[in-house]
Amino acid sequence: MTHDPNCIFCKIVAGQIPAKKVFEDEQLLAFHDIRPHAPVHFLIIPKLHLASLEEVQPEHEALLGRMLGLAPRLAREQGADNGFRTVVNTGIDGGQEVFHLHVHVMGGPRPWKIG
Ligand code: AMP
Ligand code: ZN
Repeated sequence: MTHDPNCIFCKIVAGQIPAKKVFEDEQLLAFHDIRPHAPVHFLIIPKLHLASLEEVQPEHEALLGRMLGLAPRLAREQGADNGFRTVVNTGIDGGQEVFHLHVHVMGGPRPWKIG
């Protein structure tokens, strides 16, 4: 499935619900988390609907690499200039709430609200 009409992040990709975008290209989208845990908190997602890391196949490895490779540049642009945390929650026990693959990027001066 490349697009899941019931998926909230696919709806953001399709422009059906709004998001505060920080980056977009043909493959990837990054936008601010609606409930930030840190002064800087955004998500990097593939436009392709992949439910989680569990669904990733060898042909997606370059896409995963791009997602992580983008993180430092976007973190700096968003003002996280002293380091950042990347998190990928996978599955129920991993604490995943939205089943469209995403990398959390969190940074900015501490203390943070959570973590
Ligand atoms: P998780 O699946 O637990 O890794 O986290 C999903 C994240 O998506 C949470 O941090 C939510 O705050 C965030 N989120 C859920 N809906 C939206 C939305 N419409 N726009 C931006 N962030 C969202
Ligand atoms: Zn999706």
